[in-house]
Amino acid sequence: MKTKQIKAFGTEAADLDLEQLDIKRREVMPKDVEIDILYCGVCHSDLHFARNDWGFSTYPAVPGHEIVGKVIKVGEKVTKHKAGDLVAVGCMVDSCRTCNSCKNDLEQYCSEWVGTYMGHDKYLDSPTFGGYSESIVVDEHFVLKVPTNLDLSAVAPILCAGITTWSPLRHWKVGKGTKMAVVGLGGLGHMAIKLAHALGANVTLFSRSENKIQDALDLGTDQVVISTDEEQMAKVQGQFDFILDTVPCIHDINPYVGALHSSGTLVLVGYLGPLENPVLNTMPMVMGRKTVAGSLIGGIAETQELLDFCGKHNITPDIEMIKMQDINEAYERMLKSDVHYRFVIDMASLKN
Ligand code: NAP
Ligand code: ZN
Ligand code: ZN
Repeated sequence: MKTKQIKAFGTEAADLDLEQLDIKRREVMPKDVEIDILYCGVCHSDLHFARNDWGFSTYPAVPGHEIVGKVIKVGEKVTKHKAGDLVAVGCMVDSCRTCNSCKNDLEQYCSEWVGTYMGHDKYLDSPTFGGYSESIVVDEHFVLKVPTNLDLSAVAPILCAGITTWSPLRHWKVGKGTKMAVVGLGGLGHMAIKLAHALGANVTLFSRSENKIQDALDLGTDQVVISTDEEQMAKVQGQFDFILDTVPCIHDINPYVGALHSSGTLVLVGYLGPLENPVLNTMPMVMGRKTVAGSLIGGIAETQELLDFCGKHNITPDIEMIKMQDINEAYERMLKSDVHYRFVIDMASLKN
């Protein structure tokens, strides 16, 4: 297969900084779309991947799965997109297309789904490389249309932070009359607040950071509870129908199970792995028919639904634009929860 060499930003090992490197993209095949990447959001998963937090990263690692750009070229069988279109790619670039999950627009639960990074490109027999790069080649099924009324530089985080919070909000039918809460005000958390507010829910934020209270209110939160304040936590026990937990590391979820009322659901989207310290007490779950669940990004149709919803309601993430060369510093700030509220890379900085 013919390939093309392009510039990217990535790392050769978990303990090294990201730096410029060259990667190969496949030449456009009949169903492929080649995209000139204009902007790429910076997800906390990018950092987990680069630093091997999950234990299964491969190197070189090129992160980035919040991609917005312009179509440069399409294969002869492409019908959805054409050169010049503004398009987006999220966390997936392929799946089997035939299993029940794929047939039901839930490609993210296909056992063969291919991540935009950390996946396996079967055509090149190589790892997939993400959006910290000049361009990408993706099957048209996984390429989304960007509403033209939105500020393009701010659209990228919808592709992961947006869909990862939207999918559970829709699945658990959050809307008018729902009293819900978000845990953690970062990239995912701030999108969860905007979207739940737009759906008409009453939204509380659980945050450790007193300095984020005003921002949370401006984003559409009705109430902020400082999660490290026992008195404030005690006051909201038994209050919520639904809680979306975006915390990226091991933490105690028992207080949030306690904050659900009977039949309520706590959905974890942040931390991946065993949560055993402290152990999860099933007593309040059994006594109150409560659910602790998880959720992974969202399907392609649902991502397009979200982009269209954001277009209709004029919703864009709050972003801080950075240059590609600032990525290592941005990761350090993300670890300090000092992001307001998503970094987006201006990819012109890589090309020039
Ligand atoms: P982020 O921007 O870093 O935000 C995470 C927020 O969690 C922080 O702003 C902070 O909020 C809170 N937090 C951080 N450390 C904490 C700690 N030790 N204890 C309690 N709270 C803490 O990260 P993100 O990009 O939103 O991603 C969040 C997580 O979701 C990551 O682990 C990422 O890998 C995961 N993720 C999952 C999916 C999925 O499909 N399930 C998709 C995308 C991302 P406060 O300052 O307000 O406390
Ligand atoms: Zn992500
Ligand atoms: Zn499948």
